[in-house]
Amino acid sequence: MTASKLDQFRAYQDELTAIRRDIHAHPEIGLEEYRTADLVASKLAELGIEVHRNVGKTGVVGVLRNGNGQASIGLRADMDALPIQESTGVPWASQNPGLMHACGHDGHTTILLGAAKYLAATRNFNGTVNFIFQPGEEGVGGAEAMLQDGLFQRFPCNAVFGLHNSPGLDVGHVISSHGPRFAGCAFFDIHITGKGAHGARPDEGIDPVMVAAHLATALQTIVSRNLPAQEAAVVSVTRIQSGDAYNVVPETANLAGTVRAFKRTVMTKIEANMTRLASSVAAGFGAEARVDFRNLFSAVVNDPQQAEAYEAAAAAVMGEERVHRNAPPTMASEDFGAMMEVVPGAHVHFGNGPSASVHNHRYDFNDDAIPYAAALFAEIVERKLAREA
Ligand SMILES: [Zn+2]
Ligand SMILES: [Zn+2]
Repeated sequence: MTASKLDQFRAYQDELTAIRRDIHAHPEIGLEEYRTADLVASKLAELGIEVHRNVGKTGVVGVLRNGNGQASIGLRADMDALPIQESTGVPWASQNPGLMHACGHDGHTTILLGAAKYLAATRNFNGTVNFIFQPGEEGVGGAEAMLQDGLFQRFPCNAVFGLHNSPGLDVGHVISSHGPRFAGCAFFDIHITGKGAHGARPDEGIDPVMVAAHLATALQTIVSRNLPAQEAAVVSVTRIQSGDAYNVVPETANLAGTVRAFKRTVMTKIEANMTRLASSVAAGFGAEARVDFRNLFSAVVNDPQQAEAYEAAAAAVMGEERVHRNAPPTMASEDFGAMMEVVPGAHVHFGNGPSASVHNHRYDFNDDAIPYAAALFAEIVERKLAREA
């Protein structure tokens, strides 16, 4: 009996763990992944894979062709770290003060390198695999930067597949769904201008703090009163700033926060209602308000056909009972959605075991998860680019 795909990847465990911990020790902020991109490029080159640098600033694409098949597939991993001071205490902890791989992108990068190693060695597929190492996933537009650089014109893909680790989910398990996986995300700033005055004589001014307070409350009616109850959305005011003194009515106030929704139409409606509320609430107090609304992430929406194939691949690698289909989507966001708007694809979460949550200063990627996720990437390639029997 031949070794299972998982067993073949377990043989890479020590090598891949060393790579993962090396990347973890040297985290880089989004769009500045110079060392990480160097490492990725040199590993791909060692495997005999064609390497393209600077696709979306620090992005790297590896191209592996086999046979005469015209079909192609994209596998995507993200490479960036977060501006967090690490406190895991592990021997491979960040050597860069104030920066940390707190979202497991060190693991994702390693997983894609592992899949590349296996596919370059075994070549049990017919067509082209594009290994997409994306920079700047954490809100700085890395996916968009790659698309702007002609990612899918230069490296055409019939389908794209991504994944993200999930703390709390057992290692070797996958969650998936057909349809939305991550919400779309926008950030907003609302600048309120009133009229400054002495704190003892507010009647001589226009108090922007009152406008901010009323507006923060009014914004909570957008989801509850303006959207159909079936449409999931979040409006969070996460920052209110105004004033410097006990006895001064300030001139200005600023509100900021984030919006999440699964549909473009819902996001557009929230923006319109926010703009209307801001200007009319401010006008009611004699003040003015200006809204700066920025759409950052598209929703990640799994193509049903690609999700089905991805789930079947996961079941083949991990066992049917470890693939949890029809999982509810998360209101968090992933900029892979920008790629999936161009090319149909699917994204799944895989288990990271009982770790701290992502974006926490005690989080660490679980190396035991590497063989499962890398084998999943390899399996979907061998299924989508199957050789003639
Ligand atoms: Zn993250
Ligand atoms: Zn992440």
